[in-house]
Amino acid sequence: MGLALNSPQTIGILGGGQLARMTLEAAMRFGAHCHVLDKNADAPAVPYTRYFTQGDALDFDTVMRFGAACDVVTIDSEHVNAAALTALAEAGKRVYPSGAVLATIQNKCRQKEFLAARHIPTAKFRVFASRAELKQAKLDFPCVQKMATAGYDGYGVKVLQSAADLDTAFDGESLIEEKIDIAKEVAVIVATADDGKFVAYEPVEMVFDPQRNILSYQICPADIARPLLNRAEFIATSAARHLGVRGLIAVEMFFTRSGEILVNEMAPRPHNSGHHTIEAAATSQYENLVRILLNLPLGSAETTSQSLMMNLLGPEAAREKEFAAMIARAQGMPGVHVHWYGKKDLRPFRKLGHITITGERAELLKQYSALTKT
Ligand code: ADP
Repeated sequence: MGLALNSPQTIGILGGGQLARMTLEAAMRFGAHCHVLDKNADAPAVPYTRYFTQGDALDFDTVMRFGAACDVVTIDSEHVNAAALTALAEAGKRVYPSGAVLATIQNKCRQKEFLAARHIPTAKFRVFASRAELKQAKLDFPCVQKMATAGYDGYGVKVLQSAADLDTAFDGESLIEEKIDIAKEVAVIVATADDGKFVAYEPVEMVFDPQRNILSYQICPADIARPLLNRAEFIATSAARHLGVRGLIAVEMFFTRSGEILVNEMAPRPHNSGHHTIEAAATSQYENLVRILLNLPLGSAETTSQSLMMNLLGPEAAREKEFAAMIARAQGMPGVHVHWYGKKDLRPFRKLGHITITGERAELLKQYSALTKT
């Protein structure tokens, strides 16, 4: 900590969402100077930073100008100009992740090709340049189509049930994946320092609402036999090592009904599935990122409590009232931690906040039901 206090370094974060906001919370405790770039002056991270630049992280010149004032640069979303990250590194800035890692991950086709080339288990796939090309191919239905770029939180992903669905399939570069019979969805976050030392967080299990296809909640540790969890950790750390990523990487995986573990996708930044590490791990994912940025030793990723985390998504009309009631109820409940991001833009399904519940496994679901009762 002395290092950061004696020679303050300026951390630049490209993107000012909730992940940047929680990274800033951790950075403040180390006395780091922080600078945020976002298109939106009302972005969640803005009130947490002294220096804010309004601008587009996808624009090369904007990122270069922003980076010039920083010692070390990181991201809160993949929607960043990867070539600018490479140019900043060439100009002597420390950059997490590198432009090369980001470019591989930004395009789902390149990401899957990377996994396949390194023999990291992943669903079988084929890459197509356009819908016209897709229509000429012989496909096995049902299958899943994913846009190469511009998808997130399930946008840009479509299940194709039969050839009839090809007319409404996405156009542009995409991949077609076999449809997996998913038993569980799990994520592992790995934090890697410059010297290659790393820590991995315990696997988290994501539980989806089957009707709305969005995350209902996630629990940690995942309710899965220990040898399988060890295997998931092994797969995640090998993916991180093969990528050569420095900083954080979240590896999302499917546990199939036939007992396989397949990597679905990766994100080289703090991740939604790591929110619980603030209250339920020895060192949060955000603090470990800050430690890497400031060249400080990594902290332990050990789980300190079992936890359940739910996103507060908004608003389907009356949800604001529902959240207000939920947050009020949470105040009287032990082990319930509310995070509200202060977003001004309340589009449907946006993540407006999250709640982490810590405690014994049997109590977590009871607390969750008590909180979400309407
Ligand atoms: P995004 O990057 O938009 O989050 P994902 O690749 O994570 O997209 O897909 C979103 C969700 O769609 C996954 O969490 C999973 O539930 C489902 N899904 C994705 N790929 C497959 C697949 N090959 N088979 C079955 N379901 C899938």
